[in-house]
Amino acid sequence: MSGASEASEAVGRRAGSDALVEVRNLKTYYEGGGFLGGDPVKAVDGVSFDIRRGETLGLVGESGCGKSTLGRTLMRLEEATDGEVRLDGTDITTLSGDDLKQFREDVQMVFQDPDSSLNERMTVGELVREPLDVHDWKTPSERRARVRELLETVGLQEEHYYRYPHQFSGGQRQRIGIARALALEPDFVVLDEPVSALDVSVQAKILNLLEDLQNEFGLTYLFIAHDLAVVRHICDRVAVMYLGNIMEIGPAEALFDDPANPYTHALLSSIPEPDPTAKRDRITLRGTPPSPRNPPTGCPFSTRCPVKIRPEGYEEMDRGQWERIEVFREVLRERSRANPSLSDRARALLGRETHRADMDDIVAEVFDGHETDEEVMRHIREAAEYAEDGDEDAARTYLREEFNSVCDHEMPDQEAVGDGRVSLCHRHEPEYEEPATVFERLTD
Ligand code: ADP
Ligand code: MG
Repeated sequence: MSGASEASEAVGRRAGSDALVEVRNLKTYYEGGGFLGGDPVKAVDGVSFDIRRGETLGLVGESGCGKSTLGRTLMRLEEATDGEVRLDGTDITTLSGDDLKQFREDVQMVFQDPDSSLNERMTVGELVREPLDVHDWKTPSERRARVRELLETVGLQEEHYYRYPHQFSGGQRQRIGIARALALEPDFVVLDEPVSALDVSVQAKILNLLEDLQNEFGLTYLFIAHDLAVVRHICDRVAVMYLGNIMEIGPAEALFDDPANPYTHALLSSIPEPDPTAKRDRITLRGTPPSPRNPPTGCPFSTRCPVKIRPEGYEEMDRGQWERIEVFREVLRERSRANPSLSDRARALLGRETHRADMDDIVAEVFDGHETDEEVMRHIREAAEYAEDGDEDAARTYLREEFNSVCDHEMPDQEAVGDGRVSLCHRHEPEYEEPATVFERLTD
C-alpha cells in the first residue's frame, strides 16, 4: 500500500518546498480499553498534507471525524501510531529531551473552550506568564514586561493583569488563551474551534485579531472548525476530513465554489444559502458516519456516498431501487454495532425502532410498496436469513460481494483534480464519470 515516502512524493510535488509542516501517512489510533476492549478507534487513519509557511489551513468535518486528534498529534499531545510529522524538516514524532522542549516553544494550541483551559485560581497575569515560567524564559522582570505587551497585543488592558478569568466575558477569555499561546513566540499554532463557543458578534472580533496576529508575527495556522462559513473567510486552503481521512484539500475558493469530492459536495450543500433564490443543489446524507473502530474496507465515505459507483449489472437500475438496497445495507450495519445507543440511529434511518424488529419487518419496511427486481429480492432475503441466524457479518459480507462496488472494496488514491486540489474518490479515475457530472443528474 502507499507508504509514507510514496505519499510524500505525491503531496510534496504539489506543495513545493515552502512547507512548514509536512504530514505523511499519519495515523493516530486510540487503543480500545474499557469493557468492549477490541478494535482501536482509528481517529486519524492515514493522512498526508502540507501546511505552508504563513498560511492558514482550515480543517473541517463533522464532529468525531478526527480533527482534534489530528491537531493534538501535530502538537505531540497525542502519540502518532504511524507516519511522519515534520516541522521545518524535522520529524517531531520522535523528539525527546531538549529538542522536545524547544518544539514545545515553537508550536502552540488554542482550545475551543476558554473556560476549561484556563485555571480559575490564577490571575490573568499569572496565566499569561505561566508558559514563560515553565520554559524559564529570560529574566523575571522581562517576563513581566512580556506579559504586559501580550495583553496589549490581544486587546486586553493592563489593569486586567490582576483579575481572574471568571471576571471576563467569553471573548475576553479567548483573548487570554491566545495571549498564552503567543507568549513564547511560536511559529505554528493549532486553533481548535477557537470561536465555536462565542457569540457571533464576538466571533468576528476574535477572527480579526487572529488574522492581525498572523500578519504581525508571520504565524502559520491550522484552523479547526465545523462551521464552514467561518473557514471560508479566514483560510487560504481547506482540508475536509471524514472518518479519519482527508477527503479533499485545496485553495478555499476553488473548494467552496466547485467541490471535487462527493463528501465536500454534501457538506457544502448542508450550509444554508445566504441568498435563498440562489440555485444550490441540496443533498441530504442518509444515516450517520460509520464507527471509527470499524471503518468501511474501501472508501471511507462509501456507505453514505450519493454518487457511489454502481457495480456491473446495476448501472441502469433506477435510483429509488438502488437507494433502497443501500438503506437496507446501512440498517444491517447499524444493527451489528454493539453500542445500544446506536439503535437510535437505525431508528432515525427508518423512522422507527429497528434493533428489536425482526428481519422480515425490516425487509418489508424498506422494500414493500416499491417495485424491486426478483433477483435483487432474492439477495436481500438471503442476507436477511444470515442476519436472522445471528450472523450479521455474513449478511453484510454477502451484500458487499453481491453489490460489489469498487467503492466498497478499494481505498481510492489521492488524485490531483485541478486548481491545486487533491481529492480522494474513485470517480476521478478515467473510467468513471466525475462526481460533479453525476450530482448534476441527481439534482435535475
Ligand atoms: P473531532 O475533533 O473531529 O470532533 P476527535 O478527534 O475529538 O474528533 O475524535 C475522533 C474520534 O476519536 C471520535 O470517535 C472520538 O470518540 C475518538 N476519541 C477522541 N479522543 C479519544 C480518546 N482519548 N480515547 C478514545 N477515543 C477517543
Ligand atoms: Mg474536536
